[in-house]
Amino acid sequence: MQPLVTSCMAANATDHAWTIEELLNAGCCWGVKCEFVGRKLGISPQALRDHQGSRERAKRRPSNFSFQAVKSHHLLRRMRHADLKLNRMNRYLQRGLIGLIAGTLASVALVTTVDHPWIVVLIGAAVGASYALTIRPTPHAYADTLMAAGALGVPLWGLLSVIAFPLFSGRMPEWTAEEMRTHFPALVGWVLYGTCLGVVAQGLSDLADRILGPEPAALIPPEPNKTHIVILGGGFAGMKTAENLEALFAADRSIAMTLVSETNALLFTPMLAEVAGSSLEPSHISSPLRTSLHRTQFIRGRVTQVDLEGRRVFVSLEGRRAGEATSTGARELNYDHLVLALGSVSNYLGMTNVQKLAFNFKSLLDAIRIRNHVIEMFERADREPDAAVRQPMLTFVIAGGGFAGVELAGALNDFARGILADYPNLRAEELRIILVHARERILPELSESLAEYARKSMAARGVVFKLNARLSDARPGVVVLNDGEIPAETLVWTAGTSPHPLLRSLAVGHDKRGGVVVDSTLAVPGHPGLWALGDCAAIADGKTGQPCPPTAQFALREAYALARNIKAQIAGRPLQPFHFNTLGALCVVGHQTACAELTVPFARKKSMRFSGLLAWLMWRGIYLSKLPGLERKVRVFVDWTIELFFPRDIVQTIDLN
Ligand SMILES: Cc1cc2nc3c(=O)[nH]c(=O)nc-3n(C[C@H](O)[C@H](O)[C@H](O)COP(=O)(O)OP(=O)(O)OC[C@H]3O[C@@H](n4cnc5c(N)ncnc54)[C@H](O)[C@@H]3O)c2cc1C
Repeated sequence: MQPLVTSCMAANATDHAWTIEELLNAGCCWGVKCEFVGRKLGISPQALRDHQGSRERAKRRPSNFSFQAVKSHHLLRRMRHADLKLNRMNRYLQRGLIGLIAGTLASVALVTTVDHPWIVVLIGAAVGASYALTIRPTPHAYADTLMAAGALGVPLWGLLSVIAFPLFSGRMPEWTAEEMRTHFPALVGWVLYGTCLGVVAQGLSDLADRILGPEPAALIPPEPNKTHIVILGGGFAGMKTAENLEALFAADRSIAMTLVSETNALLFTPMLAEVAGSSLEPSHISSPLRTSLHRTQFIRGRVTQVDLEGRRVFVSLEGRRAGEATSTGARELNYDHLVLALGSVSNYLGMTNVQKLAFNFKSLLDAIRIRNHVIEMFERADREPDAAVRQPMLTFVIAGGGFAGVELAGALNDFARGILADYPNLRAEELRIILVHARERILPELSESLAEYARKSMAARGVVFKLNARLSDARPGVVVLNDGEIPAETLVWTAGTSPHPLLRSLAVGHDKRGGVVVDSTLAVPGHPGLWALGDCAAIADGKTGQPCPPTAQFALREAYALARNIKAQIAGRPLQPFHFNTLGALCVVGHQTACAELTVPFARKKSMRFSGLLAWLMWRGIYLSKLPGLERKVRVFVDWTIELFFPRDIVQTIDLN
């Protein structure tokens, strides 16, 4: 029945007068099982009988008879929705069944390693079904699936074997080395379970494709007047919005999408500190936008102006041709819907000297620069005989005790102490990594006990904390605080950000940070078709009214809600408010040490806290699974493995001058 509906839609969508010949060729035969089609399309039996009669009458008419009744847009829309619903239902049933079988088979890997075999088989089957329902299968992507599903085993092990099973048996989970050793076989079991689940699900999905044909997608022919959605920014918010729109509009060619971004890759910021600390190769934490987007036009360029009245965006296309110093061009894009996802920039709170002298820590280039500068300082200090001149070279000041600052301080501390062995003239006591924070405690996003754990373990590794201290100025070789000066050649600023400055010029509402104010559906009030999300927007949760924090975790969920609301608006359906409860926070504070605070499912006010090696393993497992693309996952995994056996690389990769 489905091809019948689809082909009717396909022919009908072209919006031209049908001849009876075309109708019959398209298979639009309303007499066949018309009750079923009618139910699905919401068409009354009387209307169906009329169509049937028309067809019978049409048989006796000349073949160029214009079948106006079927041209109705209302009918077309109902057909389209019915077809999509049928497709979706079949797709999810098929995927759920595959997941259930794969999960049950894969749970064999767990039976010998955990104490509750039958419960584990049930959990394995349920996890399998949820996995297959949420992850869209890519045909024959065995290696990708194997890695992604294998990585899933680590958080499952942590949540179930380490926490849930002991709790259900009436014991409190313990994080001692002894207890972890007893859980080790279960870790192997869960990773094996993950890999088996991925491979079996992939195999069954490919088999289903061969036998039943590929997952059905609605056949909608291109329409001349396309709705153009333009997305500004290729970070978590912009990129994920484009991906979600691609999934939602599937083959609907009446929608065109364009993404404009200054960089051609999505930067995975949670791993940026590891690049600065020389644990990861820079390009391994960026995924090319062009590879991830399939039907979105990508333009690498800088947005210079947005004309809300004229519904236009101006993009500067800067580039260099052989033999030219620079070549610039510009492009103008018209839009029906505009998504603002330009992120944020560092905010130096008006301290121009700090802006001039400090390193930024937001982009890949920033991380590469910091790493190269640290090596440069070591090289210069190593050949400097005067200890007083050497001291500022070996002092690294990081301003800001939030996640970015703490992770960077931890990574730089490990890096700097790790490479000391290569510089025989330098001593560990000369090295100073100083974290300056304006408040009483670092990591305000985490609970006090975890923040204190982070401070103590970093201090034990040699990081110096200057709390309740404000950076007020900087001079070459000197960092000025409100309570004194620190001779230092290196200052990194992570203490403040503000939404992208371009947005200030728009005649829309702004909050005091400069973020674009949106309503609970992520639409900009008073500007139909204008949307904003991510770090550049001021968003209040649709349920709690609380402001949404500028994190990747929120940006990804906002992107999903926003894409659905754009689709709802185009279809004339009501929009849904955005609501998301944080899943928790993870922060690496040094090699093999991290803090994690995860929200308890179904008890949102409670959280589970982890620290030390377990939290660090969770951090690596969770972020590795979230890193987009198999190739990047493998590269990062290899970098981490190399790091276990070899010293950090001290090769300078760019010329700082
Ligand atoms: C070091 C660091 C670590 C972090 N760790 C975490 C973490 O562990 N967990 C977490 O949830 N969050 C983390 N965050 C925060 C997270 O990275 C941001 O919240 C998230 O990136 C916001 O996404 P966004 O798309 O709004 O902005 P961004 O990711 O900043 O993307 C903005 C995009 O706009 C593009 N752009 C900017 N200006 C223009 C222009 N004029 N024209 C065209 N394109 C432009 C940029 O190139 C970029 O692609 C971290 C941030 C940093 C800096």
